[in-house]
Amino acid sequence: MDEPRTTVDTAIIGAGFSGLGMAIRLRRHGIDDFLVLERHDDVGGTWWANTYPGCARDVPSHLYSFSFAPNPDWSQTYSPQPEIRAYLQRCASEHDLHRSIRFGTTVTEADWDDGAGRWTLQTSDGPVSARVLVAGMGPLTEPSIPDLPGLDRFEGNVFHSARWDHDHDLGGERVASVGTGASAIQYVPAIQPKVARLHVFQRSAPWVMPHPNRRITAAERALYRRLPALQKLNRAGVYAGRELFVLGFVKDPRLMRFAERIARRHMRSQISDPWLLERLTPDYTIGCKRILPSNRWYPALAKPNVELVTHAITEVRERSIVSADGSERKVDTIIFGTGFKVTDMPSGHWVRGRGGRKLVEAWDGSPRAHLGTTIAGFPNLFVLLGPNTGLGHSSMVYMIESQIDHVLGALRAMRERGAAVVEVTPEAQAAYNRELDARMEDTVWNTGCASWYIDASGRNATLWPDWTWRFRRRARRFDPAQHMLRAAPTAAPVEVPA
Ligand SMILES: Cc1cc2nc3c(=O)[nH]c(=O)nc-3n(C[C@H](O)[C@H](O)[C@H](O)COP(=O)(O)OP(=O)(O)OC[C@H]3O[C@@H](n4cnc5c(N)ncnc54)[C@H](O)[C@@H]3O)c2cc1C
Repeated sequence: MDEPRTTVDTAIIGAGFSGLGMAIRLRRHGIDDFLVLERHDDVGGTWWANTYPGCARDVPSHLYSFSFAPNPDWSQTYSPQPEIRAYLQRCASEHDLHRSIRFGTTVTEADWDDGAGRWTLQTSDGPVSARVLVAGMGPLTEPSIPDLPGLDRFEGNVFHSARWDHDHDLGGERVASVGTGASAIQYVPAIQPKVARLHVFQRSAPWVMPHPNRRITAAERALYRRLPALQKLNRAGVYAGRELFVLGFVKDPRLMRFAERIARRHMRSQISDPWLLERLTPDYTIGCKRILPSNRWYPALAKPNVELVTHAITEVRERSIVSADGSERKVDTIIFGTGFKVTDMPSGHWVRGRGGRKLVEAWDGSPRAHLGTTIAGFPNLFVLLGPNTGLGHSSMVYMIESQIDHVLGALRAMRERGAAVVEVTPEAQAAYNRELDARMEDTVWNTGCASWYIDASGRNATLWPDWTWRFRRRARRFDPAQHMLRAAPTAAPVEVPA
């Protein structure tokens, strides 16, 4: 193994909301000895990678942004991707982060060295040694493409929504779009007017709600600039409103009937064809999969150049797609709007903790962590947006900021107690996960739909099953009693008062 060329106190992988948020907070705490490793050539993460037509957030702008970096200038209540990317670029510049980010650097291995009490990272730019590792690699980063028979034989153009091929002109083409999730629902209406024919392959219909997006007027923006408290109030109102979903998601799924009524009315107001209506009506409780907002999805599907296909794809040929009913459709381009590898992230295979144990081995089929952040057997590792931190209703940035508080609490505890190594106890992690699993039992996500929230073992390892403020309250307080703090990797635990 090469000798590390770079030695830092804290290495952060990823320059999305997680990595940038962590870096900014470290800098604000006067901690400068950190390095962000990012495989792309700019900041933004999700908002760098997803550039498909129509890409936008589906959580309101004032909530889906850093609480410590409010932006009075959002142009819409649900801003599009270029604005979010520009916002993150601005956050990085304002905090002088570029000098601390190594772009175009992919981390391929991360090994905990118990003797040295450090992480050794192998990267495309040489090895890096770090005492603390913050993994901000994002839950929706690795495109998931179904293993369709014959796909490698296809002679047309193929790409995933998160790797949009802007050099390829879809004008006048026959296009197949696979998947009807959060990305497809945004790009299908955007490309429908320009393509000759659009076959939308649907495995299961999403529940779609009316989209409340609107322009934020110049007067409102001026007001937010002059009175920042007003923007904070708006953010608090949006947060509280979205939190009401927890009542239906977690507390009593029967409450979701109200949302279902709105979604059905929305569908009927935009679709009159009984054939389409039948196929577009989901067969599971609303909320079991992510609820999608759109005013353009149904009208796009009703256009004469669009065909909704509900038969599974059985084969891809050189220039066509064959579906389970035996029909063959000629296509020039296939677009996969099929989401991401969420519970089977590649990093599970290359992050190795104590004794060389891989994350996937420690997880044994289902990702588990303590507060979604620390993992027993993986000292000095903090995962941002780790297991069970996902939300179906509110801002992931809220969760990220809560976790960053947790990391800063851990670093403070280490400093105060003269500890070099921190690790959550297996007992604390197990108790936490037992509690999560119990809470998960009666949630809407367990009402019998197949979703990306559920891992291969059938467990929901993705979502946080409670009020988000409860997550924040717990994460914010780093509890030394639930961790082993050691002066050196092999030393006895530092005394922790009961
Ligand atoms: C299209 C889309 C829309 C979304 N809309 C919303 C929304 O409205 N509201 C919401 O709350 N959430 C939304 N999300 C979820 C979104 O992913 C999170 O909100 C948030 O952006 C995650 O930030 P992150 O920094 O954790 O991860 P990311 O933004 O994914 O950033 C991770 C970074 O890590 C880098 N990286 C990964 N592996 C390596 C490696 N091995 N070496 C070096 N670098 C690496 C990646 O290149 C990437 O830049 C959306 C996701 C998508 C895909």
